[in-house]
Amino acid sequence: MPNLLDIITDPNPILRKVSVPVDPKEINTPAFQALCDDMSLTMVERDGVGLAAPQIGRNIRLIVVTDHGKPVCMINPTIIKPSWSKEWGEEGCLSVPNKYGQVRRHKRLHCRFVDRDGNERTIAASGLMARVIQHEIDHLDGVLFTDKAKDIKEFEPVHSQEEE
Ligand code: ZN
Repeated sequence: MPNLLDIITDPNPILRKVSVPVDPKEINTPAFQALCDDMSLTMVERDGVGLAAPQIGRNIRLIVVTDHGKPVCMINPTIIKPSWSKEWGEEGCLSVPNKYGQVRRHKRLHCRFVDRDGNERTIAASGLMARVIQHEIDHLDGVLFTDKAKDIKEFEPVHSQEEE
């Protein structure tokens, strides 16, 4: 059974480190496969659309993103062919609770990565998927969306009084 992982939050210094590539030999080990399952579960349970390994305390180049409601693990992801055109859109982050802001991102891109079966893949992404990939790869380089955002809104943490 996969485990729900703790998500670390800003200003934890782990979030500011540049993560190291995953050794391809490591991918088919039970420990790495379990990490993929745990990160996928954690993303889904926390209502995220993406999760990067530094967010669960590991400085390795691994992200999970939602593709049509299904978690996809991307190992050593790199952006290729980013579109010239960019657009603003609202972002938040599980590691930066209660903050939202507008971030300008490439509208379209291709992403090359190794999947959890060890196969090299390239996918085309646009819209939300392209935005999520850029946000998650930023995490691998120690960058948070608040470094790039404008109009950052901060909300008081919600305590559900009615349940008490
Ligand atoms: Zn994030």
